[in-house]
Amino acid sequence: MIDRDALLEKYRAERDKRLRPEGNAQYVRVATHFPHMLADPYTPRTERAPVTDHVRFAMVGGGFAGLCTGARLAQAGITEVRIIEAGGDVGGTWYWNRYPGAQCDTASIIYMPLLEETGHVPTEKYAHAPEILAQARKIATTFNLYEKALFHTEVERLTWDEARQVWLMGRGAAGLADRDGPGGPVHRRFRRHRHRALERAQTSRHPGHRDVQGPPVPHQPVGLWLHRW
Ligand SMILES: Cc1cc2nc3c(=O)[nH]c(=O)nc-3n(C[C@H](O)[C@H](O)[C@H](O)COP(=O)(O)OP(=O)(O)OC[C@H]3O[C@@H](n4cnc5c(N)ncnc54)[C@H](O)[C@@H]3O)c2cc1C
Repeated sequence: MIDRDALLEKYRAERDKRLRPEGNAQYVRVATHFPHMLADPYTPRTERAPVTDHVRFAMVGGGFAGLCTGARLAQAGITEVRIIEAGGDVGGTWYWNRYPGAQCDTASIIYMPLLEETGHVPTEKYAHAPEILAQARKIATTFNLYEKALFHTEVERLTWDEARQVWLMGRGAAGLADRDGPGGPVHRRFRRHRHRALERAQTSRHPGHRDVQGPPVPHQPVGLWLHRW
């Protein structure tokens, strides 16, 4: 028989080993200390005219959360949908993380979304990153999500306009999405924010961390999975 209290105590003890008094201060923000590492190394940036328009649904982020929402909306007959993505393509985690050997650790047939709808059969029990990224692109193609998507566009400002009952989206003070605002915000009736629980890229604080040189770090921060370093 399982001793529930003993089991809980064991988990608690393991958790406590990982808690550090400095909390999040054990990490440094990549954006602050290594801003050059946040550049998109995969897709050249293409200039485009500012966008000032209205769509019914906007997804901030083109990872699986945005893609699946867009796909389900398309299935419901709603096509006025736009993905706004800081990177150069859809895929989210799988766009940014491309280190050798990266793969999912949930079985592919459970993890990879919309397999039946896209007709893809995973080639491995735990698919590698390129196959998962390809599936993300296939979802975008199948459900026509590329048509209105804005890439290399970071939403930095999100304001609810009560009078017009719309969200205004555009750049903030830092101004990465400088092509779209603040003079020309994009309007949405509904928004779905990127899921992305581990939101800001961080790396460990250690002696000499400021001197680190090297390739871009992944955009998903220190978390449950190993990342390209
Ligand atoms: C190696 C690895 C293996 C993994 N394996 C598994 C697994 O087996 N099972 C599992 O459940 N999960 C796994 N994960 C977790 C994985 O991140 C999630 O499963 C899922 O891909 C997250 O999708 P998402 O759309 O929520 O977020 P993300 O994939 O992180 O996408 C968010 C997107 O939003 C964009 N974005 C963020 N802010 C803005 C902004 N302000 N403006 C514009 N764009 C913005 C980002 O650029 C990013 O592309 C794994 C992760 C890694 C790295």
